[in-house]
Amino acid sequence: MFDFIIVGSGFAGSVLAERIANVLNKKVLIIEKRNHIGGNCYDYKDENGIIIHKYGPHLFHTNYKEVFDYLSNFTDWNIYHHRVLAFIDGKKVPIPFNFNTIEQLFPSTLSQKLQEKLLNKYQYGSKIPILELKKEKDKDLKFLADYIYEKLFKNYTAKQWGIKPEEIDPEVTARVPVYISKDNRYFTDKYQAVPKEGYTKIFENMLSHPNIKLMLNTNFKEIINVDFESKKIYFFGQEFKGKLIFTGMIDELFDFKFGKLPYRSLGLRFETVEKEYFQEAPVVNYPNDYNFTRITEFKHIHPTNTDKTTILKEFPKEYKKGDVPYYPVFTSENRERYNKYKEFAESFDNIILVGRLAEYKYYDMDDIVKRALEVFEENFLNE
Ligand code: UDP
Repeated sequence: MFDFIIVGSGFAGSVLAERIANVLNKKVLIIEKRNHIGGNCYDYKDENGIIIHKYGPHLFHTNYKEVFDYLSNFTDWNIYHHRVLAFIDGKKVPIPFNFNTIEQLFPSTLSQKLQEKLLNKYQYGSKIPILELKKEKDKDLKFLADYIYEKLFKNYTAKQWGIKPEEIDPEVTARVPVYISKDNRYFTDKYQAVPKEGYTKIFENMLSHPNIKLMLNTNFKEIINVDFESKKIYFFGQEFKGKLIFTGMIDELFDFKFGKLPYRSLGLRFETVEKEYFQEAPVVNYPNDYNFTRITEFKHIHPTNTDKTTILKEFPKEYKKGDVPYYPVFTSENRERYNKYKEFAESFDNIILVGRLAEYKYYDMDDIVKRALEVFEENFLNE
């Protein structure tokens, strides 16, 4: 009946379903645990009429023209440049840490000296990960690196990941490098925009095809059985000979046979504030204060004409069964464990892993759209 079964309807699952249905004209079943599509990109209008991101802020940015063009088939966009402030030493200053941040935090002579020294060493416009800057020998630049590390990264990372910045894959903190420039934007990619009517609309448009059937509120374990010995897959008790595209937690797929993979989760608290605006930027990070990491105010992302505003506080926590697994925890030990699962998956003819959870990777939205398009071209285009 179905040529493909896809577990999960986030970007990984939805892009593949759309391609398979439209390009291959084959039949797809999507199995989704939640009562909605879109995975963690799901958004909706709340009781204040404001589009909110149910699973925390999602800001689209990419340098991949093909990804932007592909998604533009399913949405119009509003140009949007994301901005983040961090509350440091009693001030809200722009991050990524840049020359404006230096000017706002230090007296002018020191600020000038630091900017000159940075410009002597690095090219204007370059981006330096904090763990790189920390290796500086020059006394003033060392002072600056230690300051940024202590005030911006150390405690935020402890809250977010439960470990120190140097204990997590360097790519994680390198996502927010120090900018040798006066650019206050959080991202510098060529394409930065929000979908005009929100992300959910993109998924609705992708999945509305007669070849795509969707089962919401369904845990894949209820209908799919994977036999570890014979390497066969059963769908409602019958052998399934098509391809299974799995975008969920890989350790769960294989009954935790190599042990549990750790994830970080978030407690998300939405609040209505009886004011036109709550804060001066879409996101304010609190590295050193409170138990939450950041506050998002969604009205800045989708301007809405109302005298109330909706904000979101994020309280990071360890993932436990029943929580939402937002982030794989990228340490070398966990990567090794993941590789065992990956190898095991490869011993099946018809299991394909795609996505942040199935591949245990910190994919951004554009990365995963790109990856799903590549998986389609490499594996299925000639089917
Ligand atoms: N980070 C930090 N302080 C900040 C912002 C980020 O220490 O004010 C570190 C932290 O380890 C975080 C990582 O950089 O997990 C990546 O931040 P990003 O904003 O990309 O995280 P996401 O939006 O994906 O949660």
